[in-house]
Amino acid sequence: MCLFSLAGAPVAYAGEPFYQSRSYVFGTLATVTVSGEAESSAREAIAAVFADFDRLHWMLHAWKPGELTTINQAIAAGKARIPVNREIAAVIRDSTLISGQSGGLFNPAIGRLVGLWGFHKDRPAGTAPDTDDIARLVNANPRMRDLRIDDGTLTSRNPAVQLDFGGYAKGYALDRAAGILRRRGVKNALINLGGNLMALGRKGSASWRVGLQNPRGPGVLATLELRDGEAIGTSGDYQRFYIVNGRRVAHIIDPRTGYPVPDVQAVTVLISGGKRAGVLSDAMSKPIFIEGVSGWRAAAARLAIGRVLLVDDRGIVHLTRAMRKRLIFPDSTLSLSIQD
Ligand code: AMP
Ligand code: MG
Repeated sequence: MCLFSLAGAPVAYAGEPFYQSRSYVFGTLATVTVSGEAESSAREAIAAVFADFDRLHWMLHAWKPGELTTINQAIAAGKARIPVNREIAAVIRDSTLISGQSGGLFNPAIGRLVGLWGFHKDRPAGTAPDTDDIARLVNANPRMRDLRIDDGTLTSRNPAVQLDFGGYAKGYALDRAAGILRRRGVKNALINLGGNLMALGRKGSASWRVGLQNPRGPGVLATLELRDGEAIGTSGDYQRFYIVNGRRVAHIIDPRTGYPVPDVQAVTVLISGGKRAGVLSDAMSKPIFIEGVSGWRAAAARLAIGRVLLVDDRGIVHLTRAMRKRLIFPDSTLSLSIQD
């Protein structure tokens, strides 16, 4: 339910002008909208956010040559004490924490598996990989806790670790963007990074209203109003996928099996304000997605995520009561399965 304008053009909405720019970054269309500011400060703030997105895009890219690919090559070569900058060190520490909390289901160390399945390309494509190759990578058991950081250096005790922050970077970028905007005094903004969004303040006299994409077909599955500081993140099997033998191969991989997760179309998590709302909105969708229709509720409870929605392979929407309260479903024929 985004209102698009030409890049940067002021648009009146609910009595207040807002300024908006769009750009392709992190493999998705990013839109930043600022409301309630003078034009020059709004434009400068938006430009600062996009500059940071661009910087992070190159620093954390999983396969295009940059700082992360250099680190990954050094890990694969078995090198010790690999230099890492402070920010990458912090990202590794934080994602290691989340990986532990998720029982290893959120696992940014499985970059080799993600690549083996054909997702280290701008347009994912492939044939199903060799089952022996999958088994070898699963048995090598790459985990975040194989990594040790000290004194600005990184050492892996497992050369099979390959870092892939594709399930973390957009959320991290949202948290950074919120910080940049707030430091500039911007109180009202909507940052949209494809499947991950964060709201600051309001849009004029109304809340920011956003839509969740229908995983199959056009239109929105649901809409909601995002409150100040909230972030929402969706992982879907419709975002990056290809078809092999009539079966959809999508980009969320179960580290236990080495296979893409079947039978889930989408998982959305809604996270309340806080310094890491963006990161949590991105990372937490993965363990819940991987646990699937039978395990999503327990996984969300373990992770203390109260507002969750999962769309199964038949299009049935499973969701918590707390999530239900926040959503409006335009299609009244949709099957909802609400759990406490
Ligand atoms: P998203 O676009 O937020 O749904 O994230 C999908 C991306 O997360 C994939 O393209 C991979 O880069 C990465 N990914 C896939 N499986 C996992 C996993 N089990 N843990 C962490 N990251 C993953
Ligand atoms: Mg994401």
